[in-house]
Amino acid sequence: MPADHFRTAICTDYERLLFACQRALEILDHRRQQIGALGFAGKNIGDELLCLEAAYARAYAHLESHDENCQLCRFVSKLGHRHFSSSPLAELEKKSFV
Ligand SMILES: [Zn+2]
Repeated sequence: MPADHFRTAICTDYERLLFACQRALEILDHRRQQIGALGFAGKNIGDELLCLEAAYARAYAHLESHDENCQLCRFVSKLGHRHFSSSPLAELEKKSFV
């Protein structure tokens, strides 16, 4: 069982934050692709992307601070590190702001 599944099963706060973070990233990616494909430009589009990026950054920061402060998650990730090399956070990091 992947570490994140194990963890979301144990910590519902983590599950909620992770979901919010993934969702924000999906929306941002989707919007970027749409805009790229259609060749939109302009201030409104720029503002919208900034807004989505900020929403994602906020969600990510919440997830990160939860990661540092939640005893349950720290315990689980300590267990997880022994068995799993990739965490969902590392996955998100790779994708973000490329
Ligand atoms: Zn937690």
